[in-house]
Amino acid sequence: MGKIYCFANQKGGVGKTTTAVNLAGYLAAGGHRVLLVDDDSQANATSSLGVDKLRDEPSLYDMLTGEASAADVVLKVDRPAFRRCLDLLPSSVDLAGAEVELAARPQGEREYRLKRALEPLKANYDYILVDCPPSLGLLTLNALSAADAVIIPLQCEYLALEGLMQLTNTISLVLTGLNKSLSILGIVMTMYDSRTNLSAQVVNEVKNHFPREIFDNMVPRSVRLSEAPSYGLTILEYDPHSRGALAYAALAEEVVARSQARTTDYARGVRTHA
Ligand code: ATP
Ligand code: MG
Repeated sequence: MGKIYCFANQKGGVGKTTTAVNLAGYLAAGGHRVLLVDDDSQANATSSLGVDKLRDEPSLYDMLTGEASAADVVLKVDRPAFRRCLDLLPSSVDLAGAEVELAARPQGEREYRLKRALEPLKANYDYILVDCPPSLGLLTLNALSAADAVIIPLQCEYLALEGLMQLTNTISLVLTGLNKSLSILGIVMTMYDSRTNLSAQVVNEVKNHFPREIFDNMVPRSVRLSEAPSYGLTILEYDPHSRGALAYAALAEEVVARSQARTTDYARGVRTHA
């Protein structure tokens, strides 16, 4: 049965999509069957893989509203690097309306639309990675309800820890209600800049508060990582020898190792490692 991991942080531009897309690429390249789910109406994960977000085809929106099945929506990303192991459940701009439409549905039902949509797919994949929008609205709640664990990308910047506390509070609330088995797989430090004291300070602070959650591998600030999506390519395809590529390759291995360890820790009321 596949593990469902969502990439969540209510703060915008911290590297959720970059991390989800590139981990999906490396996991697939390693022979793991991966489904990347674009749960954001910005559809950045969709376009990062070279799929037109304005194309007139069914998307996650149609699955959430019950108008399409997985077979109608899931696309194979059939490129040599991914060894036929990477699929995409694309987003579209329609998804912006889904938040409003979901809100009109009864509480207790509207939070589980994504979980229901993914249920029949779990057996087909080793990893289902869900890229969340920058909010704690219904689309993110749907992802947290469906997920086995959260991966939290955190930008190495001032006040990063305050945003993280808000997110862990939300995760604790979800744990007491919508999804009692949710855990944190790990915190990924992104856009690390070794030339600044600030990056090192932020990492130290996060290590002090979340020593078990923080991944050993950090993602450096790298222009190559920011260029790759404009070509519709993952960093593995665009520049596999760049520092950003090496970081995501190593992080993918760490994600696999943590997934397999399946250790459980109830410290702080939030379980770590799925
Ligand atoms: P949103 O909240 O809008 O969904 P996000 O959290 O998904 O944003 P990304 O889209 O992954 O964040 O990244 C924001 C911007 O920063 C993008 O332009 C991306 O290319 C760039 N970026 C991400 N990671 C890095 C990095 N390690 N080095 C340099 N640029 C990066
Ligand atoms: Mg994003």
